[in-house]
Amino acid sequence: MGKGPSRSMVKRSTIMLGIFAAALLVWMAGVLVKYQIVNYSYYQTRAIAQQTMDTTLAPNRGSIYSRNYTPLAISAPVETVYIAPNSIDEEDRRTVAEGLASILEMDEDAIYQKTLKKNYYEMIKRRIDAEVADQIREWIDEKDLEGVHLVEDTKRYYPYNSMACHILGFTGTDNVGLDGIESIYNEYLQGTSGKLITAKNAIGTELPYEYETYVAAENGKNVVLTIDETVQYYLEKHLQEARLEQKCVEGAAGIVMNVKTGEILAMASLPNYDPNSYYTITDQMALEALEEYEEEERKEQETAFRNKIWRNKCIVDTYMPGSTFKIVTLSMALEEGLISTNNTYSCPGYIRVADRTIRCWKSGGHGHQTLAQAIQNSCNPAFITIGAKVGATNFYQYFKNFGLTEKTGVDLNGEASGIWFSKFQEVELATASFGQNFKITPLQMITAVAAASNGGKLVTPHVVKEITETQEDGTEKVVKSFTPQVKRQIISAETSELVCDLLEEVVTVGSGKNAYVKGYRVAGKTGTSEKIDVLNATGDKYYISSFIGFAPADDPEYAILVMLDSPSAGEIYGGIIAAPVAGDILADILPYLSIQPQYTEEELETLDVSIPSLMEQPLDKAEALLIDKEIKYKVKGNGDTVLDQMPQPGSTMPQSGTVILYTGEATPSKNITVPNLVDYSVAGASNHIASMGLNVRVVGNSNAGSTALVISQSPEAGEVVAEGTVVTIRTNSSVGVQN
Ligand SMILES: [Zn+2]
Repeated sequence: MGKGPSRSMVKRSTIMLGIFAAALLVWMAGVLVKYQIVNYSYYQTRAIAQQTMDTTLAPNRGSIYSRNYTPLAISAPVETVYIAPNSIDEEDRRTVAEGLASILEMDEDAIYQKTLKKNYYEMIKRRIDAEVADQIREWIDEKDLEGVHLVEDTKRYYPYNSMACHILGFTGTDNVGLDGIESIYNEYLQGTSGKLITAKNAIGTELPYEYETYVAAENGKNVVLTIDETVQYYLEKHLQEARLEQKCVEGAAGIVMNVKTGEILAMASLPNYDPNSYYTITDQMALEALEEYEEEERKEQETAFRNKIWRNKCIVDTYMPGSTFKIVTLSMALEEGLISTNNTYSCPGYIRVADRTIRCWKSGGHGHQTLAQAIQNSCNPAFITIGAKVGATNFYQYFKNFGLTEKTGVDLNGEASGIWFSKFQEVELATASFGQNFKITPLQMITAVAAASNGGKLVTPHVVKEITETQEDGTEKVVKSFTPQVKRQIISAETSELVCDLLEEVVTVGSGKNAYVKGYRVAGKTGTSEKIDVLNATGDKYYISSFIGFAPADDPEYAILVMLDSPSAGEIYGGIIAAPVAGDILADILPYLSIQPQYTEEELETLDVSIPSLMEQPLDKAEALLIDKEIKYKVKGNGDTVLDQMPQPGSTMPQSGTVILYTGEATPSKNITVPNLVDYSVAGASNHIASMGLNVRVVGNSNAGSTALVISQSPEAGEVVAEGTVVTIRTNSSVGVQN
């Protein structure tokens, strides 16, 4: 009998080999698709058998731009390194492992183990930068190596890290959008894959392949947002500061929206995350909270926290808007002609509704008030009276018309619906009149207020402005535009104008005056609402403090919402902790948005000026310059050249301050001790400082009046400074106005 294998054995191994080869092919095709192999040269030369190979060519994912075409999400070209162990010469294995390990900073032995395998594809490292890829190419050439390959790949990159993360969303490892714009507009962004079909023969020979079909990949389109990166930056900055300062257990949210078009210029939700590594918790407060847990429980908590940082509170969370909702109640009653500015209300501190007593937030009551005063005081009994006049049926109809029973239709995912009574009974109507007992999203609330202020039109809020296509010359061609959508007219233009006037007074003299911005006509309303469904660790209630406003009051363009969720540092009132945040944001963004300030005479006096450099200038020239700028000055010494000055060049002080010019032998000497000013009245502190020869600069609400107190100062009390130094005091006018 023959010593060789039997025919059946040969046959069997041939079949086995065939199955094995087929399985390998299927697997490889999968790998190729997955890792977007463009460089197919390896497979051209190393075909295992006669075969058809179908390679997917990955398109470049489109970019996401701000409204100013600043890239907020881009796909950067990167490369991926893999080896084909079967093509690596045996004596090269160690060299390959050593080289790759040193360039890629990886474990040499792990790579060596991979070189021993009997296949054609072992991933070494994904998405390396161009520099490192070049290093590998040089090294391959130098060592004349076979079987080490680089393939093109892309990496999603968010240059501003966490900024606007809840709008942008993020992509998975396969470059498919998983959240935010990345997910909703994935269809536009991802592009269309190309295809390369090649037929090959021969084992291990260079060529030939019999045919090749090539369909180029079509790159993704770009999404241009309505978001303005500067407005977004300021919103996030001030919101984060407030959240940390007020220890907001459940975070914070903020929106800036164009009231006429519904374009969202900024939207922020805290805590947040960095979409470059969306799985990593980087939020400081979240990390500190996590440390409270033991090892095992922490793992579970991490998952819960991840869900928190990914949540866009502006559209996913609902809340009771509290007194900010009085804007809506006011609008409907005015529109129905049920109230006028001639009405008066009396508040003893409570009101009887059916069998219930509902209290005003001010226990002693507001006494006799005009309509305007009732709004400024944010008086609950007055608004319960107004709501009762509107009546349950009408109230519900307006509630619906203002868009509060439907989703806003914003182009972001996960928008929640509110919770409300479809039939308001007497007590429900009373509490709803001042914003309690129903829940809506912050975005629904700001959209309703936008309608109340913009002439009565309910617009659809949106974050995408247009879709563009990058042309060969690098310019952008608009392929789709999203125009403003007006859903319906809710109140008349006249009613809207009246609402604006009444609300402006809330900010100039009422409960919202901490949102006042020098030179700008801001209108708005504060709110403080109980969170009835959650209690804090000590069993007390949590609150939501908020402010909603718009500017300019005489022709509203932008609305702003600031919401602090569960502040636990002591203060809870929207007028005290949310209004100043809105004021700080508006002070930064209104000048940027080219809204021209209109200063009152009083404001012009306290307006800050930047001190020019007068050093080394002839005295007469320096004097002329200051006279021209209408800045007061004092000269010290007998020289005719300015050798020093206070305040120093570049610092700011109010227009009413005094510059001291030093000439000859005179020099500024530090001989004035700054007194403690905190808790003193602004007026008293200002006079005291001025009498000491120092300049005083007031920040915060300059319109606060005689009740305003100093809450902080710089330099601190006890510091010794020179005459003319600027002392900055911050005011918070909180006396008597809180809700
Ligand atoms: Zn009252």
